[in-house]
Amino acid sequence: MGKLKFAIYWGAACGGCDVAVVDTHEKLLDIAAAADILFWPVAMDFKYQDVEELADKSVDVCLFNGAVRNSENEHVAHLLRKKSKVMVAFGACAQLGGIPGLANEKRRQEILDYVYHGSPSTVSQRGIYPQETTSVPEGKLKLPKFYDAVKALDQVVDVDYYVPGCPPEPARIMEVVQAIVTGNLPPKGAVVGALDKALSDSCPRKREEKKVRPFTGLMKFCLTLSAVFWSRVSSALVLQPEVDVATPLGASGPTCPAGDAMGLLRM
Ligand code: SF4
Repeated sequence: MGKLKFAIYWGAACGGCDVAVVDTHEKLLDIAAAADILFWPVAMDFKYQDVEELADKSVDVCLFNGAVRNSENEHVAHLLRKKSKVMVAFGACAQLGGIPGLANEKRRQEILDYVYHGSPSTVSQRGIYPQETTSVPEGKLKLPKFYDAVKALDQVVDVDYYVPGCPPEPARIMEVVQAIVTGNLPPKGAVVGALDKALSDSCPRKREEKKVRPFTGLMKFCLTLSAVFWSRVSSALVLQPEVDVATPLGASGPTCPAGDAMGLLRM
């Protein structure tokens, strides 16, 4: 049998799942011996066009980590589904929405309002929000559409297997790769690379005695000092002249508000 062909992608992710693949250390050489990686944007300089030019179903396995938060994530999920024989939701974010899914407590506009206007460290009187298309002298710049809600991968495309974990443990990743290479995969829809015990059940460490240190006067003093310091920083940031977050860097030369705040504190 020839070498397998893998694709690895990150959607709305923290990068931890990609790091977990690298954390297989020297076993990464075993993966490289068994499979060519055709697409892995976090580690190699492939372009989407490289994937578009692949024949349909020419990728044996796609490990998709991260949730689907925007139109780019969704576009690549559909593209990789079309090009891959097996689609794996890799890690908690792809499987269930994970940490990015917590943002579903708020709607899109609430998030944008806070980040670009409501946050104490942002001052923007011009009311500018990021636009999906912006005209600049060089042409049109495009940003992906920020969706109203975060979705798990199987809410967007058909998924064959699920690898849990945040991130999946390197040892479990190797078990999954082994199952793929040997063709020893369970029926479609199964969870692979999971232990039958939770981590807390398998941890051998025991806490024999619980000691709670008394809250000393020194600790109270430090906390008060810290609260005063951060309230001074917040006030100083609000006093800053208008800095519009949507102003392109270099156009008006905005300074670092935090640095200016420290300057005010020194005055
Ligand atoms: S599953 Fe955990 S480690 Fe992986 S991308 Fe999501 S938050 Fe990061």
